[in-house]
Amino acid sequence: MRYVKFESNDIIRYGIIKDGAIYPDENKARSPYEPIELKDAKILCPVSPTKIVAVGLNYTDHAKELNMPIPKEPLIFLKPPSSAIGPEDAIICPVESKRVDYEAELAVVIKKRARNISTDEADDYILGYTCLNDITARDLQKKDTQWTRAKSFDTFCPIGPFIESDIDASSLKIELLLNGRVRQSSNTSNMVFGCKKLIAYISHIMTLEKYDVIATGTPAGVGELKHGDRVEVRIEKVGSLVNNVVKDI
Ligand code: ZN
Repeated sequence: MRYVKFESNDIIRYGIIKDGAIYPDENKARSPYEPIELKDAKILCPVSPTKIVAVGLNYTDHAKELNMPIPKEPLIFLKPPSSAIGPEDAIICPVESKRVDYEAELAVVIKKRARNISTDEADDYILGYTCLNDITARDLQKKDTQWTRAKSFDTFCPIGPFIESDIDASSLKIELLLNGRVRQSSNTSNMVFGCKKLIAYISHIMTLEKYDVIATGTPAGVGELKHGDRVEVRIEKVGSLVNNVVKDI
């Protein structure tokens, strides 16, 4: 199933995508349930999470690129829900930073409240997967001794376009394209800790709520964004998330 949140005729709704058209959620829609052409809708960030939990250094190729040891347990941090934007929304580079980077990531969307669950149980808590770009003010990440400011600016978390359920995410091609050129290219099989392990681990620290998002880390090849860039996170079977970059003035 492919879940979508969209706006058409000034109304925001949820729906599913079938045969290239959007079918509004029948519980909330008025009958009859006329499908809407994708081109007639603005696709929005598919979730409103209570939190976005992100994972650092979770690809073997990225750890190698940074000359960092592979973590023995997941290294987690938070991005605020206020940083989330949807497909085609602008990523705004703040005046406080001189170096803003992209990070292509597979995101897991949580299906129901998860607390103290095991890796074996984790599948039951996954609604689906989407693309995420973990935008990072790299200079501020180095300057501050922790990452809150660097990871938290408004627009620093593009998510979308859809939530894909019923797929196996353990071996998917993941790429980042900057102005059409491939800059990151890896496979989710290179993750140090897989999605199920991450859900179990995080659920022992904090309760995960329905629609919370876990950003599962980025592969090698991170790099800088500039005003006017067009950046795309592309994940096999999951989708393509495209955003334009503007410099704040
Ligand atoms: Zn990241």
